[in-house]
Amino acid sequence: MTYLDYQATTPLAPEVAKAMQPWFEDKYANPHSASRWGSEAAAAVEVARKRVEAALGLKGGSIAFTGSATEALNWALKGTAEKRAKGRNRIITLATEHAAVLDTCEWLVGGGIDLTILPVMHDGRLDLELLARELDDRVLLVAVMQVNNEIGVTEPISEIAQMAHGVGALMLCDAVQAFGRMAICQGPDLVAISAHKIHGPKGIGALWMRKGAEPAPLIHGGGQERGLRSGTLSPALCVGFGAAAKLAEERMTRDYDHVQKLWAAASRALGPGWTINGSTGHRYLGNLNIRREGVDGARLVADLRDLAFSLGSACASGSGRPSHVLRALGLSYREARSSIRLGFGRYTKQKELVDACKRIAEAAHAQEKLDA
Ligand code: PLP
Repeated sequence: MTYLDYQATTPLAPEVAKAMQPWFEDKYANPHSASRWGSEAAAAVEVARKRVEAALGLKGGSIAFTGSATEALNWALKGTAEKRAKGRNRIITLATEHAAVLDTCEWLVGGGIDLTILPVMHDGRLDLELLARELDDRVLLVAVMQVNNEIGVTEPISEIAQMAHGVGALMLCDAVQAFGRMAICQGPDLVAISAHKIHGPKGIGALWMRKGAEPAPLIHGGGQERGLRSGTLSPALCVGFGAAAKLAEERMTRDYDHVQKLWAAASRALGPGWTINGSTGHRYLGNLNIRREGVDGARLVADLRDLAFSLGSACASGSGRPSHVLRALGLSYREARSSIRLGFGRYTKQKELVDACKRIAEAAHAQEKLDA
């Protein structure tokens, strides 16, 4: 199988698997218990925390571990809404955000939040003048992702954060697809990340919080994460996240050079007739979301079962609905259905990617012939 679904998840790095191993076997103590073994586990969790924070590179705050980025985003949105001051009840977000943001925002409407979902331009980017017109002193939070998971398009997070701060609002950034792959933008007050997108384990994420901007707790109980988030931490998952973050930080330039070469090779191998969805200038190059007139993307995926690529977000692909992100770019249903996403990265070999792209192009030609 050729794995081309790096936005859905990434292969576990061998170094990460090795670092986690002892914490699954003999080192099973609870990191929150006072025994010597507990203290050893707690120390390992703290080393991991520092590694994740160092890789994030954000100033003036710290992280709390969560069960996923979905939890971190739910917590940031619901916990900020809960702490809101009288008169500040608007949340502004984008039509292209992940379901973890959009669905949580929709849920908050039932609790009195006034939600504004801004459209994006044809290239998938936010029109900053539109945002400026929408911002006022009723805005509590602006939520915008750094790299879009479906189309790879980047947003100017620092500028958006500055604009939000200008009206006294907070800024939440979903940095899941950016973390470990490019520098994280300074400016937001809350940043959500996930380990399994950076060659770490599934089942752990984190919320970075600027000091003073901590949301009210979402999960109550033992208060293990500084009273802000409850639940026994898994030393294995924390250590794995820390190891993956350290590795990503050390290898960022090397990994991105590799990704740029892969992008160029894939584009050549696909040949003419494909259109890139979203901005070509403002994007992460490990995400190649393309469409081709008259092609059925779902049929391509079904025809090429030994290639793992997708139609868009892994969360939405079971639904049969065309991607909300592609629709937000102004693509017709037909265009959205003729789109596929190829995601590649650290462990993708150029030859396997080129072979896969050639087979995708051939399968697309075969569909065209059949339908002619
Ligand atoms: N945000 C983005 C942009 C994502 O790509 C994902 C994962 O698909 C998430 C949030 C949710 O992350 P997790 O799988 O850790 O819940």
